[in-house]
Amino acid sequence: MLLSHFVRAMSVFLFASLMWPSFGQADGLQFFKIGSGSKGGVYYPIAYGIATAISNPPVSKSCAQGGNCGVPGLVGSAESTGGSVENVDGLTMQKFHAGIVQSDVAYWAYTGTGPFRTRKRNEDLCAIASLYNEAFHLVGSATANINDVNDLKGKRVALGALGSGSLIGAQLVVRAYGFAENKDFQMVEADFQSAQKMMAAGDIDAFAYVTAFPNDAINKMTKTTGARVVSVSGKGRDKLVKRFPFYTAEKIPTGTYAGQDVDKETLAVPALWISRKSVTDDRIYDVTKAFWKNPASRGIMDDAHERGKNVTLRTAFKGVSIPYCDGAKKFYREIGKLR
Ligand code: GLU
Repeated sequence: MLLSHFVRAMSVFLFASLMWPSFGQADGLQFFKIGSGSKGGVYYPIAYGIATAISNPPVSKSCAQGGNCGVPGLVGSAESTGGSVENVDGLTMQKFHAGIVQSDVAYWAYTGTGPFRTRKRNEDLCAIASLYNEAFHLVGSATANINDVNDLKGKRVALGALGSGSLIGAQLVVRAYGFAENKDFQMVEADFQSAQKMMAAGDIDAFAYVTAFPNDAINKMTKTTGARVVSVSGKGRDKLVKRFPFYTAEKIPTGTYAGQDVDKETLAVPALWISRKSVTDDRIYDVTKAFWKNPASRGIMDDAHERGKNVTLRTAFKGVSIPYCDGAKKFYREIGKLR
């Protein structure tokens, strides 16, 4: 199904390119770029689903004729990036119109605090919706003997790459357990894809990744290499949850990954769909309305990824850490979801 959406979107894109040589400036044709994540993550398929649901290029049939029900003239796209921090940067540089961003990262970027204290606060950022919860995944190799966070002592650990929200989350977690990077364990700089390869080659003992479960790449690793998801609980977690309200206690249920015969305690943080005030209120209103009202959205999101099923109006207000965009607020007020 996802492939057929993709083929359809690509053919519309190609057709539109032929029709309008100066594609992008043609009357009535507008782009909406959504910063997502890297290969192996969940942001990309989710952003792709959102982009598909809100698109309605001029060449398609109208919604009333059984065609596309997105915003007329709009072409949405999912841009692959390193994750939350790069998405915030893309919004700040006005390269993107929207992005998927961890709730903690959105808050720190908006307020210029925490890991963003050395940067200028970005009050242009605003929220469209909360999408789903991501879980902190700590994965230990088959031979490293890591049964909980404290076993990371003296090990080689990939916490994430610069540009990812994952790295920020992982640093908060290890520090809450009293660890200092490169003193108590060796921190290896690697993105999610490189971390998987390094673990398979025996070059690291563990990696961390903040992503929704089930994550296909982690699932494959646990099946093929004997890697295991490690539990994250106890005092460190309690401390973190108390200090940073975006983080909550979470369980990765039994059987989610290979070799997992018990629920694994860990942490969760919401993934938000955010935009910026400098995108017009009308555009954000149209996009928000199209996404929630398009009768095809449900199927598109369900097909995009297992976690797409969690994207509902019921949970769209959970864990939103920055103010809503005025255009989104207008729509939620109209449908009686916000006051
Ligand atoms: N939470 C990750 C990040 O912001 C992305 C995870 C994903 O794509 O599933 O870097």
